[in-house]
Amino acid sequence: MRQSLLGASLCVLLVAVLWWRSPAEPTQSKREIFALGTLIQFTIENSPAGAAASHAAINAAAQALQNFDQRWSPDGTGALGLLNQRLRSASDATVAIELLPDILRAVELCRSSGGLFDPGIGRLVVAWGFDDEQNFRSEPPAESLLANARAACPSLCLARVDGQHLRLDSPGARLDFGASAKGRAVGQAIAIMRAAGIANAIVNAGGDLQAIGRASGRAWRVGIRDPRADGEQAIVAALNLADGEAVFTSGDYERYFEYAGQRYHHIIDPRTGAPAVDARSATVVHTDPMLADAASTALFVAGPKQAAAVMQALGVELYLLIAADGARLVSPALQARIEWLDDPR
Ligand code: AMP
Ligand code: MG
Repeated sequence: MRQSLLGASLCVLLVAVLWWRSPAEPTQSKREIFALGTLIQFTIENSPAGAAASHAAINAAAQALQNFDQRWSPDGTGALGLLNQRLRSASDATVAIELLPDILRAVELCRSSGGLFDPGIGRLVVAWGFDDEQNFRSEPPAESLLANARAACPSLCLARVDGQHLRLDSPGARLDFGASAKGRAVGQAIAIMRAAGIANAIVNAGGDLQAIGRASGRAWRVGIRDPRADGEQAIVAALNLADGEAVFTSGDYERYFEYAGQRYHHIIDPRTGAPAVDARSATVVHTDPMLADAASTALFVAGPKQAAAVMQALGVELYLLIAADGARLVSPALQARIEWLDDPR
């Protein structure tokens, strides 16, 4: 009798343990770091390899991201900082091998976007004061300062690259990959996790993200922010992500100052040398996060009139543009998947 009671309670205990460990109860490994000017969150769910392996994968991805940050900083002592030091007074330079593939890709994206995504605008970013988070301007720069900056912004679209040798149209450039580096970095972090056998994960860099697999047995669900909402949490739409999809948004609310009732923000229209005026936010969904990042910037600059043509040229089918007047332009493919959470104004 005593034995069967003991057996029964062991059995109950075992069932309880099995239930506790059942896949219906997701196990999550998380970590947050600060890199690329934003908070980056790594989340892994239900890894069959266990928590220790998940943490190791997150740590490897976080380390890669931090290295990436140093390498792609336009002004530091990393590889891009050194390249820019040389380009300050020369129109040609040797590109470090670790920068080369991404610079070649950026040249291609610059060309296919019709020059709306152009990392050659770095000197204008400085003239407008958006290179330094701590010291934003309180008024637009003088015309003379802008004219000098424009003269020192050779387009990356016109770059000639031969092996590791880069030649720009003129000296003085400060290449700035701020519009595509986050995408490239998030993609690299996800690739490291996949290679470590992780199937369900999301890397979220301040709202720009890529997801793989599923969350609690369902698709990862993400929100698209209302660019004029007061609270950080306000979202206009929700979207379920397929395996590997990335969502990148460029917004005029990220870095800006206001002067005489006008908002001046960090997304520069390379055609005018001033902040782009036709959009509040631009969101692109694609399985290639570097493309999604560069394309969201190009879409913002394009505005509603040129949006469709520029997205087609970049091979993007899923996009949403919230125009300067608040009107929403959503591509047919995204419209079929998006769930609006408010009444469009
Ligand atoms: P994103 O938030 O991805 O649109 O990137 C904006 C950042 O990219 C800015 O802070 C600048 O450093 C840089 N940038 C601004 N305008 C452009 C542009 N038209 N093309 C490429 N990079 C840009
Ligand atoms: Mg971008």
